[in-house]
Amino acid sequence: MEMDAPFVRKTARSAQMYREAARWIPGGVTANIKYFAPYPIVMDSASGAYLYDVDGNQYIDYNLCYGALILGHGDQRIIAAINDTFSQIGTTIFGTPHPLEAEMARVLVDLYPGIEKVRFTNSGLEATLLAIRLAMAWTGRKKLAKFEGHYHGSYDQVLISVTSQKRKREQRPVKTLDSLALPDYYAENTVVLPFNEWDQTEEILHQHRHEIAAVIMEPVQGGFIPPDETFLKRLRELTHQYGIVLIFDEVKTGFRTGLSGAQGLYGVIPDLTALGKVLGGGFPVGAVGGRGEMMEICSPAGGVDILTTEQRQPSLGQGQPLFHSGTYNGHPVVLTAGLATIQTLQESGVYPQLEANTTQLRKGMEEILNRYGIASQTIGVGSIFNLVLSDQPVRRIQDVLESNLSLRRKLDTHLLNQGVFIKPLNRFSLSTAHTAEVIDETLERLELAVKSLVR
Ligand code: PLP
Repeated sequence: MEMDAPFVRKTARSAQMYREAARWIPGGVTANIKYFAPYPIVMDSASGAYLYDVDGNQYIDYNLCYGALILGHGDQRIIAAINDTFSQIGTTIFGTPHPLEAEMARVLVDLYPGIEKVRFTNSGLEATLLAIRLAMAWTGRKKLAKFEGHYHGSYDQVLISVTSQKRKREQRPVKTLDSLALPDYYAENTVVLPFNEWDQTEEILHQHRHEIAAVIMEPVQGGFIPPDETFLKRLRELTHQYGIVLIFDEVKTGFRTGLSGAQGLYGVIPDLTALGKVLGGGFPVGAVGGRGEMMEICSPAGGVDILTTEQRQPSLGQGQPLFHSGTYNGHPVVLTAGLATIQTLQESGVYPQLEANTTQLRKGMEEILNRYGIASQTIGVGSIFNLVLSDQPVRRIQDVLESNLSLRRKLDTHLLNQGVFIKPLNRFSLSTAHTAEVIDETLERLELAVKSLVR
């Protein structure tokens, strides 16, 4: 896919380094999402709200490692905490239990209403994978229900209907396979649901109610499309009724929609929760938390046998626990960075300020685009939002697909040219380093970008 507008910034070193990298790395990127045409910009330093590329250009960063960096780049509190941990523990990793694991687990249990016990992983992907496996063991069923357009990581079971196709509202969601080489088994055992369409969701779940182990979902789709007012509550009730495990994938929303994630914001409590991103303070992380008896089935200290008769599901059988492992799980440096992040977020006034700054940016963007006659709106929750070039309501991923994506792509290139970094077509994430002054600077750059776009 070609860019609709050329880079006008001097990015010759990026181009050259990208070409060089592509000799050794497929596509020159270590994750497919990092690619954009004609070439991704290669960064070599960062500070607070800013990124600096290898050609010396400065950008205000609204990607923030896909939302992970809620305190911005190189937050001194995180760095100081890591230095302290290193000087105290004298190693990079123990490979045994250590106090920070229980400390972080306790923090998560205190903050997330749906979490009674926790296991750590190294990525959001591993967290959703474990949550799904727990749900399958718990129910003894083998189908997974997921929502169209919801992303849960890059593995076979969930790379289905992530990208979605334009369709009419009354049509059923379409099952798409989002990678080569996905085994038929997963496509056959996945039920695709339409987000924010209650009647269809109810009907599909009813039809498969005896086979579905879990419904997994992003409670806020893509981190920016909120659920309709009653959608989550109804889903909670129905999954209870059918004995289906409800998994909230809060990898994006965790610590973004507030300290207790989307479950805290909407007051709907899932059985299992997957966390990632912000939880690691910029280091690789994931966690699964949930109902104690469900989490306990991966305990090697007795496994399912330590459950009481009432807790035990008939499907669980005897003895063998559900296997979960990972050499680096509960890494002390990662947990240190995460705890420092959470402590900072717990200081009074942090979320209100972050949200006020986000509102300032959203309003300013809408005002500028409106002034230049571009139909647009921002849509989001907490400190994440997206810019959708359409004046129609946005409740589903299809509404975004029906917006003016080609204009948005052009605008994104002009934004890059003006020093506002977002991954083209992606959402905007803010950090505490995005002060009111940074927002003003962003709006000035946006206006320049829009001017050159409409010229
Ligand atoms: N779930 C959601 C909602 C995500 O946004 C992501 C990553 O963007 C993942 C899971 C996968 O997390 P990771 O990239 O850490 O594997």
